[in-house]
Amino acid sequence: MSADAPITQDVMTIPRKLPEGPQNLVGMTRDAMRDALIAMGTPEKQAKMRVGQIWQWIYQWGVRDFDAMTNLSKAFRAELADAFVIEIPEVVSKQVSTDGTRKWLVRIAGGHEVEVVYIPEEGRGTLCISSQVGCTLTCSFCHTGTQKLVRNLTAGEIIGQVMMARDDLDEWPEHGKRTEDARLLSNIVLMGMGEPLYNFENVRDAMKIAMDPEGIQLSRRRITLSTSGVVPEIARTAEEIGCQLAVSFHATTDEVRNKLVPINKRWNIAELLDALRTYPKVSNSERITFEYVMLDGVNDSDEDAHRLVELIKGIPAKINLIPFNEWPGAPYKRSSNNRIRAFSEIVYKAGYASPVRKPRGEDIMAACGQLKSATERARKSRREIAAETGLT
Ligand code: SAH
Ligand code: SF4
Repeated sequence: MSADAPITQDVMTIPRKLPEGPQNLVGMTRDAMRDALIAMGTPEKQAKMRVGQIWQWIYQWGVRDFDAMTNLSKAFRAELADAFVIEIPEVVSKQVSTDGTRKWLVRIAGGHEVEVVYIPEEGRGTLCISSQVGCTLTCSFCHTGTQKLVRNLTAGEIIGQVMMARDDLDEWPEHGKRTEDARLLSNIVLMGMGEPLYNFENVRDAMKIAMDPEGIQLSRRRITLSTSGVVPEIARTAEEIGCQLAVSFHATTDEVRNKLVPINKRWNIAELLDALRTYPKVSNSERITFEYVMLDGVNDSDEDAHRLVELIKGIPAKINLIPFNEWPGAPYKRSSNNRIRAFSEIVYKAGYASPVRKPRGEDIMAACGQLKSATERARKSRREIAAETGLT
């Protein structure tokens, strides 16, 4: 790590539990819910069983009303309703793209807003969720990075996005019935707004809830966390979450990566690759996805492609090439299709899968890197962005 690291983590923190008033059960781990029930007066011996019952109502059947929890006594339901709420973010607006992609703007406590995107595909569907309002990092090609206001989402607000999407897709099974149908929402990617590893505990708790076998039940292989390269948290991600990892690589020299992904000034390419090398073994996952945004004339040469495959040698990897998605004021252009194809070919010939990510939902500004809350209108000018990145 370099000593003069300029990256700061200036995030508004909010208490994980509200000091008074009803507490939200959504987002609590099983242990936290048990403690909360005991604090309410539930006998310790019963608490674990009650958590199991409530958990199933909330996460298996999508119930939000204590009165509908018919295997609990009326008196207990009334106590629960006094002490707790079951709340998820509120949908402010919804847009549906011509390609079927859905984008919701949801409101969280404090009036902040984040975006959630659902991408339907053949036989599966991926939900792209946010972990922060805005982002403290300032990757020069990313719209979210131009948003000034930042706060971490709570675990409830993170898993709440998944619950909201299941509501809108009408995908909660009917109580008591398990369906064998293919899931509309079968995968989660933490690729919306924010840097998930700067909000580690809340992201971990929310993903544990998503993976719980008695609830939403998504396998850890169907959850992908994308990081810009917060090196010290990568080992923890393998140990404590164990999901698939994607890394925003985007450049093959420190000089260029410093400009595109400024966190590189703190943890450079060599340090990042070291952390990635151990990830698959510790998390028992197959391979790491290297995300690589294709920027015309910046990082898309044949030399870049050759350097890339040299750098990642020995790491089980897939290279996801992302055609740059433009946004108002962006200082870059998308590489041509021919250039992307040539780059992909070199990577493929070196033995790595190199799919080109198809931009989805562009007409509703739902594509990668285009997300930004409508309420946060303060936008850096083209000149400010250029000054920060050293690009003129
Ligand atoms: N903060 C995390 C996750 C969110 S971004 C991260 O940086 O990894 C999800 C992916 O979209 C990242 O790889 C990001 O670099 C990429 N991205 C950001 N802006 C983009 C843009 N305008 N066009 C294409 N991809 C972009
Ligand atoms: Fe933040 Fe990721 Fe955008 Fe970088 S690419 S500014 S880390 S959201």
